[in-house]
Amino acid sequence: MYDYDLFVIGAGSGGVRAARMSAAKGARVAVAEAQFLGGTCVNIGCVPKKLFYYGSHFQHDFHDAKHYGWEFDQSSLKFDWPTLRDNKSREIKRLNGIYQSILEGAGVEIHNGWAKLTSANSVSIGEKSFTAEKILVATGCGAQLPDVPGAELCITSDDVFELDSLPESIVIVGGGYIALEFAGIFQGWGVDTTVIYRGEHVLKKMDLALGDRLLDEMRKKGIEILLNTEVKTIRQVDDNREVELLDGTNRSFGAVMYATGRPPLTDNLGLEALGVEKNKSGELLVDEFFQTSVDSIYALGDIIGTPALTPVALEQGMAFANTQYGNAPTTVDYDNLATAVFSQPNIGTVGLSEEEARERYPNVAVYESDFRHLKLSLTENPERTFMKILVDVTSDRVLGIHMLGSEAGEIVQGLAVAMKLGVTKKQLDSTIGIHPTAAEEFVTMRERTR
Ligand code: NDP
Repeated sequence: MYDYDLFVIGAGSGGVRAARMSAAKGARVAVAEAQFLGGTCVNIGCVPKKLFYYGSHFQHDFHDAKHYGWEFDQSSLKFDWPTLRDNKSREIKRLNGIYQSILEGAGVEIHNGWAKLTSANSVSIGEKSFTAEKILVATGCGAQLPDVPGAELCITSDDVFELDSLPESIVIVGGGYIALEFAGIFQGWGVDTTVIYRGEHVLKKMDLALGDRLLDEMRKKGIEILLNTEVKTIRQVDDNREVELLDGTNRSFGAVMYATGRPPLTDNLGLEALGVEKNKSGELLVDEFFQTSVDSIYALGDIIGTPALTPVALEQGMAFANTQYGNAPTTVDYDNLATAVFSQPNIGTVGLSEEEARERYPNVAVYESDFRHLKLSLTENPERTFMKILVDVTSDRVLGIHMLGSEAGEIVQGLAVAMKLGVTKKQLDSTIGIHPTAAEEFVTMRERTR
């Protein structure tokens, strides 16, 4: 008899969902967590990042407000970092408590500490050891610093959440979600912000128009963008970091932040000794039911090579519980996965990029709209909203919906449901819009751009 039916390693989004849903279905479950309940999303990811995003965006709102008749001394606007940091930390602590009660309420036993597999059915945490019929690894990803001289002088997004003070200037290296979200956040807080990306197109897995246009908007806000270059070395000079670029030029910043990807945390868990197969990036190889190469060991979330997004991990946790303890084998459908980048402005996207659509379909119609949001029409804010719909001309099926603009994530979430149901362009066109909104543009684009 095992101590538990299921032992989950990692109490992040995927691990918690799998643990509590399995327990709700009658399994005897334990979960081990070495840090905080809720994992990356709750502690150093989605949730505090979104709070920072809201906090930072106020700066733009204050500037716009004066054109609506609000009078205040713009020069006295001051952002107090410790207030936001500490209020955020209080809220995250509250959420940690909620996670604890959800798990305990479901009957899941929580063990604090770093868990290691000692056999295909046993786990140790320090001096303690436990047995389980099944072990689920859901350890998530972690930040990384590059292998360049001076990397130890740099920070990652993990460090931003508890900074003692804000730097006067920052350079952020990377062209993905985290780099672009934090560039907007720092700029909104009043930090002189630069982004360095090694390629030509940021967010290169998305429709390229989104990243290209986002960079235009970021530049308008005063963010400096350096493309096609890399950092060679970082040195401390007085209180600053001096960064040497590929072309030999040197630039000085108050802080250097790396946002160059988050590798899976799959080392030091005892997996290799048990023959659990990984790929070169350290991701565990699993089948569609999350089973690894060792029968009793499963894995899900950011460590299995599927998109590293909280809702994906939640869905996987649900599917795992249904399959193992609900008598309902369930797989996850990753098609038409909607996602948002909380850059300023936001990106919301679902379905194929134009580049992918053209590779897969012989005749693709592109509908685009580029306009100034009504809310900004009285202001000097030059921000543009961009929307794009891709249609397979043969079937009239919508292949992709993309947006750069205010609340793009909120808007695209609804359209993602339509995409899941196989919406056609004709059906979008026959939907009556809500006026005046930006979202109505998605049902009124009649003229093909290409
Ligand atoms: P991403 O994979 O999105 O981006 C990494 C970026 O770093 C890419 O632009 C990549 O360039 C660049 N890069 C990688 N290695 C190097 C290097 N050695 N030198 C210079 N540049 C390099 O990772 P993030 O860290 O931004 O985010 C991790 C994941 O977390 C995301 O993929 C996403 O799944 C998730 N996330 C989701 C959010 C959301 O839903 N809003 C928010 C934040 C994170 P290149 O493109 O050339 O490879």
